[in-house]
Amino acid sequence: MKIGLYPGSFDPLTNGHLDIISRSSSLCDKLIIAVAKNTSKNPLFSISKRIDLINEVLISNKIDNKLVYAQSFDNLLIDFAKINSVSIIIRGLRVVSDFDYEFQMAGMNKRLNPDIETVFLMASETNQFIASRFVKEVASLGGDVSSFVPDNVNNEIIKKFNLIK
Ligand code: ADP
Repeated sequence: MKIGLYPGSFDPLTNGHLDIISRSSSLCDKLIIAVAKNTSKNPLFSISKRIDLINEVLISNKIDNKLVYAQSFDNLLIDFAKINSVSIIIRGLRVVSDFDYEFQMAGMNKRLNPDIETVFLMASETNQFIASRFVKEVASLGGDVSSFVPDNVNNEIIKKFNLIK
């Protein structure tokens, strides 16, 4: 069984993440969406909220939650991967600026565990510019982010920032 791991902060899940999830789920038999607990980014949503939002989206997209599911982690990614018998780590690549960081991280992880391969999926054309960071920034200034995130995430953002629908 080929187990894939898609790690990130998912604070919050965007349409870009969702696209990578649906495309990568066909590359492996089981996909774990690994949600980082220890994010240095001072998250907008708690770990349990981020996981609930992902699971709701998986259900509404009729994705089998035995084969694709979200789980939190706060240890070293490569250790979490090994414990879960993961053979591929999946990352999304947007613009050139993602490349440096991703290249270094994939290299470090390969040295730490040569059996685990990192696979990169290019962001779809329509999602190239979507980033959780910008979604939060736009929303915090009262902007409409409904075209960047799934509906349930948009509703939570509206609540969080007391925005009017
Ligand atoms: P990180 O905090 O590591 O950037 P994120 O939650 O922001 O984690 O993203 C997790 C993964 O999803 C990363 O590989 C990132 O490049 C990818 N990703 C984020 N947004 C998009 C997008 N719009 N299209 C494709 N991949 C994306």
